[in-house]
Amino acid sequence: MTTQTHTPHPPHSQHDVIVVGGGMVGASIALALGQIGWQVALVEDQPIPTLPDAQAPFDIRVSALSPKSIAFLQQLGVWPTIRHTRSAPYRRMRVWDAAGGGDVTFQASDTGLPELGFIVENSLIQAALWQAITNTDTITCFRHSHPTHWHIEGNKAQLCVNGEHRLSAQLLIGADGAKSWVRTAVGITDTHSEYDTAAQVLSVRTDYPQQDITWQRFTPHGPQAFLPLAGNHASVVWYDQIEAVKQRHSLTDEALLDELKAQFPTELGRITGIETRGYFPIRRMHATRYTAERAVILGDAAHTIHPLAGQGVNLGFYDVMALAECLKNTDDLGAPKALNRYERMRRADNLITQTGMDAFHFGFRTQNPWLIGARNLGLTTVASLSPLRKIVSRLASGQR
Ligand SMILES: Cc1cc2nc3c(=O)[nH]c(=O)nc-3n(C[C@H](O)[C@H](O)[C@H](O)COP(=O)(O)OP(=O)(O)OC[C@H]3O[C@@H](n4cnc5c(N)ncnc54)[C@H](O)[C@@H]3O)c2cc1C
Repeated sequence: MTTQTHTPHPPHSQHDVIVVGGGMVGASIALALGQIGWQVALVEDQPIPTLPDAQAPFDIRVSALSPKSIAFLQQLGVWPTIRHTRSAPYRRMRVWDAAGGGDVTFQASDTGLPELGFIVENSLIQAALWQAITNTDTITCFRHSHPTHWHIEGNKAQLCVNGEHRLSAQLLIGADGAKSWVRTAVGITDTHSEYDTAAQVLSVRTDYPQQDITWQRFTPHGPQAFLPLAGNHASVVWYDQIEAVKQRHSLTDEALLDELKAQFPTELGRITGIETRGYFPIRRMHATRYTAERAVILGDAAHTIHPLAGQGVNLGFYDVMALAECLKNTDDLGAPKALNRYERMRRADNLITQTGMDAFHFGFRTQNPWLIGARNLGLTTVASLSPLRKIVSRLASGQR
C-alpha cells in the first residue's frame, strides 16, 4: 500500500468520509468533498494512470463529455490540464439510419454553447483528477488497496482494507464500478439485463486531421460510431452481436482494417491503421436503492446504461454534483435526510436516460417495416424542425 507521501498508514485512522473506487467518478467525489474541507480516505486497488505525453498511444476507452460535465471538471480545477494535454471538441453530431433516409445533424449553435462536448480519454480524466488529489491535503490515498470487511459501530462506518487497516468515518461511498463491492456489502440489490451485444472499440489513424464532428450510423446489428481524437486519430465504436465482435477481434490488424473499410461509410474519412483495440460486453443495471445505513453509491456502482449515446460517466458526474451539494451544509455526512435527498435528485434522471438508450437500442434493431418507416420519419422530422432539433441538441449536451 502506498500514499502520496509514501509513509505507512496507522492501523486505525479516522476520516469524515471513505470513498471506495478511484475511477473517474470516485476520484471526482473524493476531490469535491476534499475541496469542501472534509477529511477523505480514498481506496483504489488498481494502478493509477499518469498524464500521457503527446506521443503516447491513445487509451482505448474514451468518453464524450457534456458541457455540464466539463463545467464541473472546471470547477474542480482539472479541466485546463485535460484540455491542454489532449482532447477533441465536437460542434456537430450527425446521426443517420442505414435502413432508410433519416439523417440529422445536431449543431452546437442550436444550444447556445461553443461545443456540444469533448471527446477525452478516460485514463486522462482519471490521471488529471488524481494529480489534483495528490495536491489536496484533506485526502488520504490508500492505493493498491481494497476493502475486506465493513460494519457499523455507533454512528460510524468501519471499513477494513487489505485485512490490516481499519478506517472509520461518518459515511462510506461506493464508486467502485459496475461490480461494486460496496453495493453488495451494504445490502443494496439491483435489477439488470444483458443486451446480447458488445462494443468493439478501436483507436485508429485517419487520413484527415482532427474534425469537429461525431458520426453515428444505426444499423440493424447496432450503431457504428466514429469519434474524433487529437491529431490524425479517431475512436471507432462498433456495436454488434457478441459472437460477431469476438470473431472480428480474432482477425489480424490488416484483415480487421479491411472490414472497417468495407463496413464504415466513406463520410468518415479513410482509416489508415489500427493502433489499439478491445471489446466490452454491454449490460444494463440499476440499483434498487442508492443509499443504505451510513452508505451511498454512485456512478456505475449505482447504474450502467447502453453507451451508444456516451452518457455513462456524464450521469456519474451528475451524481457527484448532486451528492456534493447535499453533503455541503450537513453536520452529519451519514444523515439519511441528506442521502435520501441525493437519491431523489438523481434516480429519475438516471432511469429516464437508461430507458431512452434502450429505446434507441431496440428501436433501431427492429426489422418491422412500419417501425423502420416511423423512426426514419422521426429523424427527418427532428432534422427539419428547428425547435425540436434544438431541444434534442440541448438534451445531448447535458442541459435539462
Ligand atoms: C464501450 C463503452 C463506451 C463508453 N463510452 C462512454 C462515453 O462516450 N461517455 C460516457 O459518459 N460514458 C461512456 N461509457 C461509460 C463509462 O465508461 C462509465 O460510465 C464510467 O467509466 C463509470 O465510471 P466509474 O468511476 O463509476 O466506474 P469505473 O470506471 O468502473 O471505476 C471504478 C473504480 O473502482 C475501482 N475498484 C473497483 N472495485 C474496487 C475494490 N473492491 N476496491 C478498490 N477499488 C475498486 C476500479 O479499479 C476503478 O478504478 C462507456 C462504456 C463503455 C463500455
